[in-house]
Amino acid sequence: MSATVRDTSVLISGAGPTGLTLACLLARQGVAVRVVELAPEPHSGSRGKALNARSLEVLADLGIADALLASGRTDLPFRRYFEGTFAAESNPAADTPPTPSAPFPSSLFLPQDRVEALLRARLAELGGSVEFGTELVDFAQDDERVTARLADGRAVEAQYLIGCDGGRSTVRKRLGVAFTGNSEPEPAMVVGDLEISGLEPSAWHQWFGPEGALLLCPFGGEDDRWQVQATPETGPDGTALAPSLEGFRRIVAHHTGREDITVHRAGWLSSWRVNVRVAEQYRVGRVLLAGDAAHVHPTAGGLGMNTGIQDAWNLGWKLGHVLTGRARPALLDSYQEERQPIAAWTLRTSTAGMAAVAEGARTPGVGLEAVRVDDLTGLALGYRWSRLAEDRLGGTLQAGDRAPDAPCTDAKGQPTRLLETFEGDRFTLLAFGHRPSADLPGHVRTVAVDAGDPAGLRDTGGHARRAYGVEGGALVLVRPDNHVALVARQGEEKAVLDYLGRL
Ligand SMILES: Cc1cc2nc3c(=O)[nH]c(=O)nc-3n(C[C@H](O)[C@H](O)[C@H](O)COP(=O)(O)OP(=O)(O)OC[C@H]3O[C@@H](n4cnc5c(N)ncnc54)[C@H](O)[C@@H]3O)c2cc1C
Repeated sequence: MSATVRDTSVLISGAGPTGLTLACLLARQGVAVRVVELAPEPHSGSRGKALNARSLEVLADLGIADALLASGRTDLPFRRYFEGTFAAESNPAADTPPTPSAPFPSSLFLPQDRVEALLRARLAELGGSVEFGTELVDFAQDDERVTARLADGRAVEAQYLIGCDGGRSTVRKRLGVAFTGNSEPEPAMVVGDLEISGLEPSAWHQWFGPEGALLLCPFGGEDDRWQVQATPETGPDGTALAPSLEGFRRIVAHHTGREDITVHRAGWLSSWRVNVRVAEQYRVGRVLLAGDAAHVHPTAGGLGMNTGIQDAWNLGWKLGHVLTGRARPALLDSYQEERQPIAAWTLRTSTAGMAAVAEGARTPGVGLEAVRVDDLTGLALGYRWSRLAEDRLGGTLQAGDRAPDAPCTDAKGQPTRLLETFEGDRFTLLAFGHRPSADLPGHVRTVAVDAGDPAGLRDTGGHARRAYGVEGGALVLVRPDNHVALVARQGEEKAVLDYLGRL
């Protein structure tokens, strides 16, 4: 092994959406971060094709939501056919339009490689980069550091190592952490990116029938790819055939029964098996797991990339606070405490969604929108059970919940939003109806709402009070990841100081 280079605080293995989001969050806090990626160049497959509303809030905080919205589509009806005949059309996005407390569309369709490209561009603006063609093969840790070994023999020393290296995570395996759950032996779906003509790109076309399903999702705009997911063909011995351009031509002809649809080219081709697994530990000392490295589940419901981005959102501020001396390392234990139950929910929801899709293959009346067995926007997910949640009021909005947005006006009478106020890596103390008296540490910004404070906000439409369930005076401490840390009465500034002290 060659000489060790101690050049980073955090080493991230894996530059998928999870690793890139985490790297951006750390770089923004001034934390030295290195990202190593096994692949020689960026992945070019569409894979995860929808960001949910909560991920859009995260990515807005990082400054890339406008670029994402400009290159994706929000209004994509699901058009269903049964045994080749049109059966129904529905538009799940239309059921959950943006509201004052949740300003983003419930889902934004765009290919994962586009999301990753925008995250890499943001990381570059923040001074970071991805080291492609760089595989992490092993590591050792002690009380002070992690020393990682790369495939080319180099060693990298860091204060923390984060395994964002996908479902087959080397980091998880080297830690010896159990990945509990089950896996099906045979692929459930063949997937890929196709170039197609003859099919209107105005809807996500979904053919169901007794022999399985064919789903063709257009990205539209300048991206002429269609993401295909289909029940695999089987060979004479009953085993699934590998995906191929010819195979997809046969599958499309078989399910659609149409001769006017031509499949011209295939790009990324793959298949996926049903894996439903969660890591038993998310943290072992100075090594943590996030994204698919910590949990895998069926694609139904489109939660994989979203859950990874939201893992990173939870972990990013905590690591930043620990590494900049604003919090003790024990804060990192709250990461598993908060995110593992979310993974359990994700596994249950996507498994139920998968069953609904299977049912849709047999029944004319059931379609892919049935996978919405639960709220998939991510907005309802919170951490009320967490050690970081302190609720002194017991109102409708409670500590641990997502901090809602609300349109307000600023000191100059200009329109603004609470989510804009929360942007960045600091805690925010919302003081409804009064100006708090206590001096808070520099990493906490105080924002008086309707307190006659010239620097505060005015809740002109009453949206903030409604969303936070506040009538008179109250204090709401919001975490850097926009979850409510503490809810207290007006005058309970000491509770806020005690909370921050405990961190
Ligand atoms: C067909 C399909 C449709 C999907 N649809 C959706 C959807 O609509 N919405 C959604 O949210 N999700 C969806 N998903 C799931 C989503 O793609 C994954 O959950 C997501 O990619 C996980 O992100 P990640 O960053 O955790 O891991 P990955 O994207 O797997 O990234 C891990 C990275 O680590 C790298 N790596 C691995 N080992 C090493 C090593 N030893 N050293 C260095 N680097 C390493 C890999 O090369 C890879 O780039 C879909 C997936 C598929 C296949």
